[in-house]
Amino acid sequence: MNDPKTLQQAIAYFADPDRCFAYAVKLRWPDGIIVCPRCGVAKNSFIKTRKLWFCYACKRQFTIKVKTIMEDSPITLDKWMTAFWLLANAKNGISSHELGRALGVTQTTAWFMLQRIREVMKGRKWSSKIGGEGNELEADETFVGGITKNMHKGRRLKVDGLGPFKNKTIVQGILDRNLRKVRASVVPNISRETLQNQILKNVKFGSTVYTDAAVAYDNGMQSRFVHDVVNKTEAYVKGRVHVNGMENFWSLLKRSLRGTYVAVEPFHLSRYVDEQVFRYNHRKDGDRKLNDSDRFAAVMAQVLGHRLTYSDLTGKSDSPHHAPTGAGEIQVPF
Ligand SMILES: [Zn+2]
Repeated sequence: MNDPKTLQQAIAYFADPDRCFAYAVKLRWPDGIIVCPRCGVAKNSFIKTRKLWFCYACKRQFTIKVKTIMEDSPITLDKWMTAFWLLANAKNGISSHELGRALGVTQTTAWFMLQRIREVMKGRKWSSKIGGEGNELEADETFVGGITKNMHKGRRLKVDGLGPFKNKTIVQGILDRNLRKVRASVVPNISRETLQNQILKNVKFGSTVYTDAAVAYDNGMQSRFVHDVVNKTEAYVKGRVHVNGMENFWSLLKRSLRGTYVAVEPFHLSRYVDEQVFRYNHRKDGDRKLNDSDRFAAVMAQVLGHRLTYSDLTGKSDSPHHAPTGAGEIQVPF
């Protein structure tokens, strides 16, 4: 059986425990050298009947799940692999209800799995800056939550302070048109300092940065970047000076939030942003269009070393109940 290319093939492929295991081993140790995840030594023996290894260096056993987000989960590998596949490739995301039904697990379990996978998608991101001389970038921000109609009128209002946006969560994003990569994160406000810091942190000096007319980007950008502004309320596109790429990303994000994740609490929003960033940034590699199995391999490659605890997920240490917030995504502790 060839490597899976479609969702149906993936489900059929991973349904066979041996094949699923072999595939995961190949992804985890692509060169075939099994290294102990605890001590890093590659001296071990494989106990085939139990699908685990015994490490001669640290004298302990390890499984394929050790030191991954799956480590302390009773969910079987085939269900995890299918969930990774689904979230990496579902353009509008997948709700915990849908995933629960697809895998035959409870919605609570599916929610917890999805949150873990989103954490993986975040990766060890943004260690280096994007942009550079000759690269064109777009910086923009959007408001999530509450009523989002009439954005243009709102954009004028934000000059006067947060106004009607005080109940919304703000996401700021930067697109490198040359690299075709987006960075987006939740920010606390739209002050000049906050928005410019995002650019200073993420963008190489000398890049060309386009923004909308938000005053937050004025003063201070010009010394380090080639900065140009489009006023969305007037001319939507001024030659190359526009933020349409970012607008496109926001509409993808909002479509998944509205359609699939009916209610997302501000605390959790950053994970949904990470999820959308992952899919957006894995549409292409250079000029090559990536397919579903490429995206799956990419997310699996990021699986190592990410752990989430209950308190990381909920922001609470011991509360057993988390109030439902909407019809779609009811957040229940694991
Ligand atoms: Zn070891």
